[in-house]
Amino acid sequence: MQQTQVAIIGSGPAGFTAGIYAARAALAPIQITGSKSGGQLMWTTDVENYPGFPNGMDGPQLMMDMRAQAEKFGTTMLDSQVTAVDFSARPFKLWTNYPEGVTLEEYERAQSPRLDEIISQIKATPPAVEAETVIITTGAESIMLGVPGEMEFLGKGVSTCAVCDAAFYKDKVTYVSGGGDSAMEDTLALIKFAKEVTVIHRRDTFKASKIMQERVLSNPKVKVLWNSTITEVKGEDKVTKIMVKTTSSTGEQNQDLPADGVFIAIGHKPMSALFESQLERDSHGYLVTRVSHTQAGVAKAQAALDDSSLVAFPTMTNIAGIFAAGDVVDIRYKQAITAAAQGCMAAIDAERFLESR
Ligand code: NDP
Repeated sequence: MQQTQVAIIGSGPAGFTAGIYAARAALAPIQITGSKSGGQLMWTTDVENYPGFPNGMDGPQLMMDMRAQAEKFGTTMLDSQVTAVDFSARPFKLWTNYPEGVTLEEYERAQSPRLDEIISQIKATPPAVEAETVIITTGAESIMLGVPGEMEFLGKGVSTCAVCDAAFYKDKVTYVSGGGDSAMEDTLALIKFAKEVTVIHRRDTFKASKIMQERVLSNPKVKVLWNSTITEVKGEDKVTKIMVKTTSSTGEQNQDLPADGVFIAIGHKPMSALFESQLERDSHGYLVTRVSHTQAGVAKAQAALDDSSLVAFPTMTNIAGIFAAGDVVDIRYKQAITAAAQGCMAAIDAERFLESR
């Protein structure tokens, strides 16, 4: 068992930035990276909006460099998955093992009550790490359509972030799948560059807020395919076409459409399930801190105002000493740079929290 002042869970931009800052504050952090180190940027090719790289940067390389930078200053990396946590008392306890005979796949698929049983078996063993503070940076996953070709062409014409990738689609033929605010936002980001943007939505009305819908629907460059779903993404080195199924009163129609870019915007899933019974989450599952852009976050910030009318420990969750940063908190921006910034804030908050005690 290892003991530390700061344990960091996760290894995207938020986690590595927290590692860099906590290590440079001489807190000798332990970072538990998850089974796949690097987070969502491991799925991208060029990153052109991260400041400091005027010629762009390869996503996986950027993450490896962030990791090396955190290690250089003394962050210890544990390349394992946190499988159970106990935040009921300090030091907080983190486990990374599985009960005998249980595999990662079984653990990840397990639902209550089987999952509760697995977690109690794990907690009957000694924890891997005991920490005075914990920074959670487990991120969020984009929900995918689950159709053939989608994962094969991720980063090669299929994208989950138009704000990040729209500029690569200048004068190109693009599609956005979804009908919520994310799909509207992606469409508006793409319109500035693409030759055409077609929104493909499975129903005949959008779920998005009226104002976002109006902005999209009033734009002459936008087309909508209602009652339609993408059934396959095709291409060679990169995407060249999509297959779309449209349902109408007369039956089903399948068509092949030429495509350069396909943006999947059907929602995100924050990776917060592990903390469900111990930390406050909002209705979408995001962890709530005092900087959450939600009503719950605003209420928490208000309640945490100190004598100087400053919000104390902005990145703290409902448990003193447990901080959260990056996409697991952020329903709105979900950018590498905003995640990194929150990771920095969480490390500084953890350091000040430790000093205050
Ligand atoms: P939502 O859950 O709101 O919308 C998801 C959309 O994707 C829905 O239209 C849904 O269809 C569709 N969808 C879901 N699964 C599938 C599938 N398997 N195949 C095809 N279509 C599918 O997610 P968002 O990410 O859009 O938004 C999440 C939250 O974040 C919301 O509260 C939103 O308001 C907020 N947000 C706010 C923004 C802003 O204010 N600028 C920007 C982005 C998000 P259906 O309609 O049939 O359910």
